[in-house]
Amino acid sequence: MTRAFLLLTLLIASCGQSRTIYACGSTCGLEVEFPVPPGWCAGLQALEDRAIRAFMRVQDDPRLRHACQSFEDWTVDVQQGESFSDGVRPFPLAGMTDCQARRIYVGNDPPADGALAHELAHVAQNCEPRPPLEYEDPDHSNWKSIYAALRAEGLP
Ligand SMILES: [Zn+2]
Repeated sequence: MTRAFLLLTLLIASCGQSRTIYACGSTCGLEVEFPVPPGWCAGLQALEDRAIRAFMRVQDDPRLRHACQSFEDWTVDVQQGESFSDGVRPFPLAGMTDCQARRIYVGNDPPADGALAHELAHVAQNCEPRPPLEYEDPDHSNWKSIYAALRAEGLP
C-alpha cells in the first residue's frame, strides 16, 4: 500500500513538472497565463465566441473560417496596464502577437474591450501579414472586411 502510494506520487510529480498551470482557457485551446486581473477570465470564452462569429462573416479571407482550430495551444499573456511597450516600437501597444512563440500579449482591459479579437485575427491568418509588414502598415489597410466584421460583433 505504501509502496503503491509512493510510486503514484512519483509518477504524478514527474508528470507535473513539465506542465504549466494556466489561469483559464477557452474551448478552442487558448491558454491564459497567470497573473490575470480579477474577472478577466470570465470574459474570455464570450470574446472567443464573438470573434469566431465575426470571422465567419469575412468573405475575402477563407483562413478565418478555421479560426477555432488555429487557436490551439496559443498562450495569452495579459499585461499589467491597458497598454505596454515591446521595447522596440516607439509607441505603446494594446496587443501584440508573437507568432514564433505562439504568444499573444494584450493589455489588461476586459477581453471584449481590448486587442484580443484583433490579435486572434492574426492567429487565424497564420500570422500573415507578419509583424514587420504590420509595422509598415499599422492600420492593416487590407483588413477592411475584418474590421467591419469585428464592428458588427461590437468588438474593437
Ligand atoms: Zn495587428
